[in-house]
Amino acid sequence: MPTPGQGTGGATAREPEPDLIPLSALQHYLFCPRQCALIHVEQLWSENRFTAEGRLLHEATAQAGTEQRRGVRTITAMPIASRALRVSGIADVVEMHKDAAGRWRPFPVEYKRGKPKAHRADEVQLCAQAMALEEMFAAELTEGALFYGATRRRVGVALDQELRALTARVADEARAMIAAGATPPAVYEKRKCGACSLVDLCRPRQLSGPRSAAAWLSRCIAES
Ligand code: SF4
Repeated sequence: MPTPGQGTGGATAREPEPDLIPLSALQHYLFCPRQCALIHVEQLWSENRFTAEGRLLHEATAQAGTEQRRGVRTITAMPIASRALRVSGIADVVEMHKDAAGRWRPFPVEYKRGKPKAHRADEVQLCAQAMALEEMFAAELTEGALFYGATRRRVGVALDQELRALTARVADEARAMIAAGATPPAVYEKRKCGACSLVDLCRPRQLSGPRSAAAWLSRCIAES
């Protein structure tokens, strides 16, 4: 398995740190804070058609390795971590491109099932990967890409300040929620809950209440 820095142009290996949260928690949190807590606090998981499609799509990138074609090094299943965001995880694909000065620069590509979505959860996950790579390679990244299984196409994602600020906020909120160790109430939304693999465990129709997840989290943090 390649480690950060092996033949990729100067990455710095990281010591494991105990209070890092999984990078995937950011995507789960932005999609639904309750889903994030069910997975990362209560350790629940259930598969549906969407998660099965995602798992199959990721099989192509789940094997750690490196290959080089047409001047681009492609690293799969690369361990990454960010001290600034306090997250760690595995990047599906990191391409290494040479810049004009001959330095290898990372370009993250995250694989997703389906097609581009209305929410920004996929972009936030990609941005967190990019911010981790920036720390590891001491480089500034301006763009990454999302590859969608349904369209078999890449969508370029600009790593602008708005997306970086959203990513940092989501990382803070997800970490606070996981540290609080409690699960927000269910808030039923037809489109979102209909696509959620945890719907049978969550039971949002039965449990939906008038309180918002944000208000619940604020109260938990204030009381902790
Ligand atoms: S079923 Fe709905 S409320 Fe429950 S975790 Fe999934 S998206 Fe969130």
